[in-house]
Amino acid sequence: MKTTIASYLPELTALRRDLHQHPELGFEETRTAGIVAQMLGKYGIEVHTGWAKTGVVGVIKRGDSDRTIALRADMDALSLQEYSNLEYGSVNDGVMHACGHDGHMAMLLGAARYLAERGRFDGTVVFLFQPAEEGGGGGRLMVAEGVIDKFGIQAAYGLHIRSDLEAGHFATRPGTIMVATDNFEITVHGEGTHAALPHTGVDPIVTASQLVIALQSVVSRELKALDSAVLSITQFSSGSAYNVIPDEAVLRGGTRYRSPETGAALLEAMERVTAGVCSAYNARYTFQHMPGYPATINSPAETEAAVSAAGKALGADKVQGNCSLIMASEDFSYFLEKVPGCFAFLGNGTRTRAHRADFDFNDDILPLGIGYWVTLVEQELGERAE
Ligand SMILES: [Zn+2]
Ligand SMILES: [Zn+2]
Repeated sequence: MKTTIASYLPELTALRRDLHQHPELGFEETRTAGIVAQMLGKYGIEVHTGWAKTGVVGVIKRGDSDRTIALRADMDALSLQEYSNLEYGSVNDGVMHACGHDGHMAMLLGAARYLAERGRFDGTVVFLFQPAEEGGGGGRLMVAEGVIDKFGIQAAYGLHIRSDLEAGHFATRPGTIMVATDNFEITVHGEGTHAALPHTGVDPIVTASQLVIALQSVVSRELKALDSAVLSITQFSSGSAYNVIPDEAVLRGGTRYRSPETGAALLEAMERVTAGVCSAYNARYTFQHMPGYPATINSPAETEAAVSAAGKALGADKVQGNCSLIMASEDFSYFLEKVPGCFAFLGNGTRTRAHRADFDFNDDILPLGIGYWVTLVEQELGERAE
């Protein structure tokens, strides 16, 4: 397998660098989608385009088993100006592949080629090239459009590079691996008046200030100590004059948490505390909750499968099967809400960090990611003994 994969590398490395040079933002990945579809077609794989606008799905069916697993790569770049002296640096101003999605696509295309040409398995592999991971919710849209049922997906696997992990090391964990993130906006409606006569109005600044403090006790006093959650207020805006008490004050911020139950408890407590504090000060309020990506929750059996495949492909000494939880979020979570599966990380090496203007995917790990994907498929869809 290694020699065959090595023979793909010149073409795949060039392809990866071409994707890097031509990054596209979420739901605008038209050039990228064209290339992905063309490569899948060239490998003789059935191609479906137009999923979640710019997403591409490839399907290989072999044998007569009805087992079906999906492998996912994300396609979008970040809104970030690249500063590098790479000869394949971004030609699109203010857009950059700074999260390794160029490498994710190249690894999945390499795996697709290997599996199409010589994969030994019985069942169906679905390759999900998903748009708009960086905030657009391309994963949510693909799931909403019915990708799971349409292709009969029974388990889903995702792989993302990590820039705080040594090159070629692999990390995952059962249960929540990445948290949910929500945003909120609270407007405290008071009654503006002259600063000299506060008793003639309702001061939204004093009310909102009390609210900022009161909300700090939600995580520390209402949640179990072992439930990971963060509540941060990041914006406080009000007023425009020295001598006027304004009509309203606006607080904005976000929460991060690891389970839907914790998210629901947080939200209930925040609204209750807001109502209580505002009532105490005679103010009214509007509370707006803006749900983000849910927590990414790995199922135990599929996580074990991923760890086992990574051990075979990369060496067991390179694999962490119980890594720590990451307080960021991922829209692969929407696939895992529907089917079991595992989201895992492959070390990119620690030379540059993701989401920075000098980041680059490490081409040395291309064959490792491909090896993991192929091993996983051949292990999970192993040919059944007659
Ligand atoms: Zn990413
Ligand atoms: Zn990212």
